[in-house]
Amino acid sequence: MRLLPRQALEAWNTFGVPSRADWLCRATTVLEAREAVAFAADRGLPVTVLGGGSNVVLLSRVPGVVIRMEITGFEVRARQGERAMVQVGAGEDWPRLVDRCLEGGLHGLENLTDIPGTAGAAPVQNIGAYGVEVADVLEEVRCLEVPSGREVLLDRRACCLGYRDSLFKSRAPGRYLVVGVTLGLSTRPEVRVEYEGLAREIARQGLSAPSPRDVARLVRQVRRDRLPNPARLGNAGSFFVNPVVEDGVAAALLERYPDLPTFPAGPGRRKLAAGWLIERCGFKGRALGRVGVHRDHALVLVNLGGATGREVIDAAQVIRRAVRETFGVDLEMEPRVLGTDDPEDRRES
Ligand SMILES: Cc1cc2nc3c(=O)[nH]c(=O)nc-3n(C[C@H](O)[C@H](O)[C@H](O)COP(=O)(O)OP(=O)(O)OC[C@H]3O[C@@H](n4cnc5c(N)ncnc54)[C@H](O)[C@@H]3O)c2cc1C
Repeated sequence: MRLLPRQALEAWNTFGVPSRADWLCRATTVLEAREAVAFAADRGLPVTVLGGGSNVVLLSRVPGVVIRMEITGFEVRARQGERAMVQVGAGEDWPRLVDRCLEGGLHGLENLTDIPGTAGAAPVQNIGAYGVEVADVLEEVRCLEVPSGREVLLDRRACCLGYRDSLFKSRAPGRYLVVGVTLGLSTRPEVRVEYEGLAREIARQGLSAPSPRDVARLVRQVRRDRLPNPARLGNAGSFFVNPVVEDGVAAALLERYPDLPTFPAGPGRRKLAAGWLIERCGFKGRALGRVGVHRDHALVLVNLGGATGREVIDAAQVIRRAVRETFGVDLEMEPRVLGTDDPEDRRES
């Protein structure tokens, strides 16, 4: 296991903001990850896990040990009738994993095509898109517990997956390092096309019986049309979670704003479109210093060039305040804020 001091993380977060780790371990095996956890435990240092850095806002310094998850592996462990159990390493690139499953006739991930990041991070916020969440296919998560380094196997129920939420994100943040996930996929080519935007695109293209490949292709096309490519414009995808409110709150808002898009979110609750709220506050396409609100997608904050993590957070606070004052609704940030602002760095900037 190699631990490197004072390592820059700018290239490893899709916002492209500057940051550095006190210590960095690029873990390619479970053993290396466990040794890095032990190193931190022996010195009383915090441990932070980084996958593809596509759902984080990094402040200038991440103290302690950053473990970059690079454990690979792909194995179809068991087939039972039309179900196959696929075990993958946490460092596997999610978009490549989805393509590989599709090519291997393993279905269930098509709607999650092209979501950046690693397989290990997928359960952390229960990634979802176009009507499917990883909760629909997740069987087990293999973890290392911090700081003991003990290996733990959690089934789907234990992961407490909810809308953009899980045990790893809100109930026990930092306690588990995901080293592998098992997905239950179908060998029968079934598709999920109920999601409005996807169904519309399928109808537009005149596909009466879309195949899993059609679904993956359409999802990729819609995503590429709608979302900025982080390689060209730093971003972390949707910056705010769609707020879920009581039916009564949604009804009162709909009286004042009849065109507000709302969606069912379980008994007595509705989900509001955060992008619409932000757009109605006039932020779409606007620059807040070096941070911008994307011109095509008000939910996406972008790094216009040279922004710091702190500037991203400050811009997000301006937007949250305006939405709260206008609609009385609190927006929750989707990416995790990692690290601290080092006074030394503030002097440098
Ligand atoms: C252009 C773009 C589009 C996106 N579209 C979507 C979308 O449609 N749906 C969606 O749900 N998300 C979307 N996202 C967000 C992001 O892709 C997902 O949340 C993804 O799962 C993050 O993976 P990552 O490896 O980059 O995680 P990171 O950003 O590295 O980490 C995210 C969080 O997970 C933790 N973490 C990472 N790996 C592990 C691990 N192995 N064990 C424990 N904790 C870990 C980190 O500590 C951090 O708190 C998008 C992002 C971008 C940039």
